[in-house]
Amino acid sequence: MRYLILSDIHANIEALEAVLANANGHYDRIVCCGDLVGYGPDPNAVVEWVRNNVDAVIRGNHDKGCCGLDDLEWFNPLARAVCQWTAGQLTNEHRDFLRGLRAGPLDLAGFQLVHGSPLDEDEYVISINDAKNIFPYVESSLIFFGHTHLQCCWLMRGGRYESVAPIWPAETERQVRISPDASYLINPGSVGQPRDGDARAAYAIYDTETREVLQRRCHYNVAETQRKLRMDGLPEPLALRLEAGR
Ligand code: ZN
Repeated sequence: MRYLILSDIHANIEALEAVLANANGHYDRIVCCGDLVGYGPDPNAVVEWVRNNVDAVIRGNHDKGCCGLDDLEWFNPLARAVCQWTAGQLTNEHRDFLRGLRAGPLDLAGFQLVHGSPLDEDEYVISINDAKNIFPYVESSLIFFGHTHLQCCWLMRGGRYESVAPIWPAETERQVRISPDASYLINPGSVGQPRDGDARAAYAIYDTETREVLQRRCHYNVAETQRKLRMDGLPEPLALRLEAGR
């Protein structure tokens, strides 16, 4: 079985469509580590697509914030503004869907989905040093997480920690063979708002038979998403950060 692993789509339908076209034919099922909405201009279209196409999905902090399950005082002013805008856009049906999303960790076929960390759905696991504090407590040897919008792959083998080199700008993918004697924390990166300095949409594919994870990047129509953000009167930094990938 080949899983398309998505995270942090953030209401960016252009990035989502580019990822689906790029991954076309290379996956059987779709799973998502949360944050369907927030930041982007198309919350209803993305929630609709997730409802119809995603086989397993957990909630992110923006999903909670935009449907009234979380207090927005934890959000930075920019995130709060767009969360309030998103809440006003969501149809009742889509708001109810977000409210009903379950928290991670979610156990699937030999791997887990979490939004932040396996220990706390809202925790940011930014560096391998953060990961070192988590590995001793994980209940699955293969965990996909999101929340930071930073594509990465860390592993622990025999008490030693390793980091797989990120995808450089001239490349489009990185292949990781999952070893039976190691534990992995893998962030597929953000579909809709990458923050690792690479503006390309990010995702991963996991093949349970070959035990290979493919991390990938693909270009999308950033200008179109920016146009919509501006048309909706959303704060300009939201548009600018998309082209910077920050
Ligand atoms: Zn997010």
